Amino acid sequence: MSAQQPNWFVEFAQAIDADDAFYLHCTACQSGSLPPRSSCPRCPNDVLERRPLSRQATVRSHALVYVTIPRFIDDAPYTVVLARLEEGVQLTGQLRGADEVSVGDPVHLGVEKYPEDAWLLTFTPD
Ligand SMILES: [Zn+2]
Repeated sequence: MSAQQPNWFVEFAQAIDADDAFYLHCTACQSGSLPPRSSCPRCPNDVLERRPLSRQATVRSHALVYVTIPRFIDDAPYTVVLARLEEGVQLTGQLRGADEVSVGDPVHLGVEKYPEDAWLLTFTPD
């Protein structure tokens, strides 16, 4: 099985791994978004600045996953977290370092590298 993750995601994950996490900041409406984008999702502006991402987030939702893709079968069941970062962007990732998490809990964003250069986003409680 080939990983076949899109280049933009690999670049995004590698930046997190290198402690150089980033998001895209709209110079017009000041909102944040994530790659891949060539224009703002909230206004007509097409000038997006790459800015540092704090990696600090708050849990917005979570779910326990029993049925998954082949790559994660050995991990199931596992918890997927939807978290909002301080910069206003949201990401999903697998929960690490705890069995449970609650909405509102502080977490921080990380990455793990799987075989075949596949990357996984993670959230760990602070
Ligand atoms: Zn905008």
